[in-house]
Amino acid sequence: MDFTTFAHQIMSMSEEAKSLNFIEHIIEEDLTKGYVKNDLRFRFPPEPNGYLHIGHASSICLNFGLGLRYNAPVNLRFDDTNPAKEEKEYVEAIKSDVAWLGFEWDKECYASDYFQQLYDWAVYLIKEGKAYIDSQSSEQIAEQKGTPTEPGKESPFRNRSVEENLRLFEGMKEGEFEDGEHVLRAKIDMASSNMLMRDPVMYRILHKAHHRTNTDWCIYPMYDWTHGESDYIEQVSHSLCTLEFLPHRELYDWFLDQVVSSDKLRPKQREFARRNLSHTVVSKRKLLQLVEKGIVTGWDDPRMPTISGLRRRGFTPESIRNFADTIGIAKRENVVDVSLLDFCVREDLNKIAPRVMGVLNPLKVVITNYEEGKEEWLEAENNPEDESAGSREVPFSREIYIEQEDFREEANRKFFRLKLGGEVRLKNGYIIKAESCTKDSEGNITEVQCTYDPKSKSGSGTEESLRKVKGTLHWVSVPHAITAEVRLYDRLFTDPTPDSHKDKDFFDFVNPDSLKKITGYLEPSLKDSKVGDQMQFQRMGYFNVDKDSTPEKLVFNRTVTLRDTWAKLEQKG
Ligand code: ATP
Ligand code: MG
Repeated sequence: MDFTTFAHQIMSMSEEAKSLNFIEHIIEEDLTKGYVKNDLRFRFPPEPNGYLHIGHASSICLNFGLGLRYNAPVNLRFDDTNPAKEEKEYVEAIKSDVAWLGFEWDKECYASDYFQQLYDWAVYLIKEGKAYIDSQSSEQIAEQKGTPTEPGKESPFRNRSVEENLRLFEGMKEGEFEDGEHVLRAKIDMASSNMLMRDPVMYRILHKAHHRTNTDWCIYPMYDWTHGESDYIEQVSHSLCTLEFLPHRELYDWFLDQVVSSDKLRPKQREFARRNLSHTVVSKRKLLQLVEKGIVTGWDDPRMPTISGLRRRGFTPESIRNFADTIGIAKRENVVDVSLLDFCVREDLNKIAPRVMGVLNPLKVVITNYEEGKEEWLEAENNPEDESAGSREVPFSREIYIEQEDFREEANRKFFRLKLGGEVRLKNGYIIKAESCTKDSEGNITEVQCTYDPKSKSGSGTEESLRKVKGTLHWVSVPHAITAEVRLYDRLFTDPTPDSHKDKDFFDFVNPDSLKKITGYLEPSLKDSKVGDQMQFQRMGYFNVDKDSTPEKLVFNRTVTLRDTWAKLEQKG
């Protein structure tokens, strides 16, 4: 089975299975157990420490998809508790990516807006004897953690008086101490079988300005203490996160137990599997390293698996949503092949992208029986998949470019392109026959001489125009061609799972040929192309106009080839 058939099958399967996923089953069950529809509320909670990637798209489509299904609000919540890594630039990029994917959030929330509330609750926990200041170093604390089979050791500071704890916590907040001098820990159980329950840290000192609260705070709450309480403040009903948080659920619940009041909704954490894409890395931290080391030109480099990179490359929001819906959500981690993502964008662009002609690797063809200096404008359909797309005219003349790969002096019967003595149809134009060719001193073919059949013009209705020849080639008239920079992309990594090797770093698998810049010869209708315009270069793939483009120098990106060239190679190999 080829990949396209396979992909069609899963797409139709997921169509049938528009039945419920396991998270929806949980929600449906909750709706029979006292929850009402109005209780439902979701959130997408990125940490603004990088740009969103294709893995996040799964979480976005899941949460916002639930919002649509249940007509429930979805908050965009920035989990901004670590000023060392977070920046406003990332906040803005995340907002524009979520909006571009086509989703509308209800409230724009920031964990940092809850710093005061979180502090007040921490004071309350201290007063209840459920939190204490530990004045050991992080190394000492780590040493006492124990192992999964051995209990941890209690800190010598565990039994400080409430008064002392309150005074020190206040001092931490007022900036009386250096980073690392003290931490606030929850007092739970140093013998718990869940290591996360062994008196987890709730606050640390960090003298660092925050992108929103500036220098108001020099203590910052830890993720576990922040996340569930933020869900509670926003009254999120189902807090969906990735599987690595499964062991954190007990702690999430413990922290909630301390503050929840019975007249309010109690959030639930539920987990789903992280989505990985083959031949790339989906981790903001690793993607940042690619940017910092200059392996890519930025977060929106068209080779990046970021939403902004995919957008710049020509992926549509529909194709990304479709991809996320097709793979659905799972309870176990796996790696999704990047060719499925390519398949999804092809499906979408096939419907919407106008067809044009551009030659990427030119070979000159002279039509010897076509009058010198003559030009004709031939009608060309813009999109056979969409009649309303109309048509345009393309110029034809005595000299044209075709692709070098489309001509051979000799070839077997299966080669339907141009060969000496053989005929092909020029797309939207005439049938030509190759008569001879010229070579340079190294034997490279530099020009092909052809004759054309003047009565064979496409669409002219003559008997000759209806004559069937096996191959149809795209072409561009030499005197009318415009040139542009064309960027051809390949996978960024040569290995399907570059970050899964114990003995090797993912940098070892960077594909040195992931970007090729060439000059393309394009039909003149493209000269007024604007940044972001999308089109199919017939037979060559789907392209768009890159943001580096200027009116003087157009730059095109190849979004994806027309067929999955990798699948073919892999089948052969
Ligand atoms: P990264 O390691 O790339 O920084 P993260 O999980 O730390 O990822 P967050 O900003 O915390 O990134 O993620 C926001 C939400 O997106 C979380 O709920 C997280 O679980 C989810 N998410 C992140 N990566 C993936 C992924 N690969 N597949 C599915 N969901 C993901
Ligand atoms: Mg993170």
